[in-house]
Amino acid sequence: MSGLYARESRSVSTMAHLRFFPQAVVGGSGAYLTGDDGRKLLDFAASWGAASLGHSHPALREAVNRALSDQAGASYLSTANEPSVLLAEKLLSLVPERARGRVWFGHSGSDANETVARMVVAATGRPRILAFNGAYHGGTVGSMAVSGHPAQQGARAKGLTLVPYPNSYAAGSPEAAKDAALAHLETLFATEIPPQEVAAFFIEPIQSDGGMLVPPDGFFKHVEALCRTHGILIVSDEVKVGLGRSGRFNAFEHCDIEPDIVVFGKGLGGGLPVSAVVGPEAILNHAVAFSLQTVHGNPVCAAAALAVLQTIERDHLVANAGRTGRMLREALDRLAARHPLIGDVRGRGLALGVELVADGAPAARQTALTVYRAFQLGLVLYYVGVNSNVLEFTPPLTLTKAEAQEGVAILDQALADVAAGRVDEALLADFAGW
Ligand code: PMP
Repeated sequence: MSGLYARESRSVSTMAHLRFFPQAVVGGSGAYLTGDDGRKLLDFAASWGAASLGHSHPALREAVNRALSDQAGASYLSTANEPSVLLAEKLLSLVPERARGRVWFGHSGSDANETVARMVVAATGRPRILAFNGAYHGGTVGSMAVSGHPAQQGARAKGLTLVPYPNSYAAGSPEAAKDAALAHLETLFATEIPPQEVAAFFIEPIQSDGGMLVPPDGFFKHVEALCRTHGILIVSDEVKVGLGRSGRFNAFEHCDIEPDIVVFGKGLGGGLPVSAVVGPEAILNHAVAFSLQTVHGNPVCAAAALAVLQTIERDHLVANAGRTGRMLREALDRLAARHPLIGDVRGRGLALGVELVADGAPAARQTALTVYRAFQLGLVLYYVGVNSNVLEFTPPLTLTKAEAQEGVAILDQALADVAAGRVDEALLADFAGW
């Protein structure tokens, strides 16, 4: 996305949304960031889910420091250094049997999904890929090519077909959303797309950047059955909601399905750049030929990822995400009863979304103002959704009950200020969402 920062500012980048965070941060600890003026900011975005252990976690710091000194001579050109071998073994133990073959390491969710997109087509000889409207699988050309988010319209692949992700809130009920989405898929196969030409279906077990949409019960079970009938590989993009965030280790476990390929990123490195694709040998062998990157599988990032996985296990952070997430969700439900702007509260574990609506329409401006006001009051929140009107809650997995309560209290105030017109709208002058 952006690496460009304006000369006159320490914080304004080309990413439109960073106007809502007009401050550089100089450090952080746990769920808090420290601004360059010493201000503490409670981080409910956790770097879009990357700071899975929070900021400056001792286990991560120690692992990285150790890898930097002990592994300095290890090869960066291959993945055969000890931390990356251990990491690969660990990841293989965390996926279903059918995905337990090989591991490819990358640096971001984008390069991982891009690699998968290339290898499934190469390995199966099938030219088509299915993905969902609203799905964000990355910001590189190859990952945008298999995405359905409005931010990525420019780069779609010729062989890509997008299908609707069931939206229970928009459809009025989970059943209606499920029936419509499945009917669409079945009609598509019957009339437009020969299913035997489809290599893979990219799915998100919770569609996060598309609006934190939770699929209706049984939806993905049907999708899985269709894919099995037609020999279509299921790729579960766990980049944002995986690794415990949903209250289960893999988010697809909520859907009772077994994907063929699992993609990890973001929180895997706890903030360091490392991603992983885990899948069958016959498919992943093609990745090696197509995507060799100089420092992938480097020992420092691999050590960071191992520390993240070990800490998640040792500190029972999956259970914490479930428990603290339920509490946060209940508190947000209580806010919804008092703030007419809140149309829906949804999500799983510490992957939650609050959709803002006004007069029955998406309230993108109010969402942006809420994000900005929350920042002024000391809470970092981010918005998602194809209509830019869903507040996303992806705090560190270490979040405590007290921190959850503090964040909700700030949000309560921010929503009240927005509703009362107390937030300066000047920053929205040329705002157009995404
Ligand atoms: N997949 C999902 C589900 C994501 O949410 C994102 C980022 N928002 C990506 C892939 C891309 O990851 P990255 O930004 O690390 O390239």
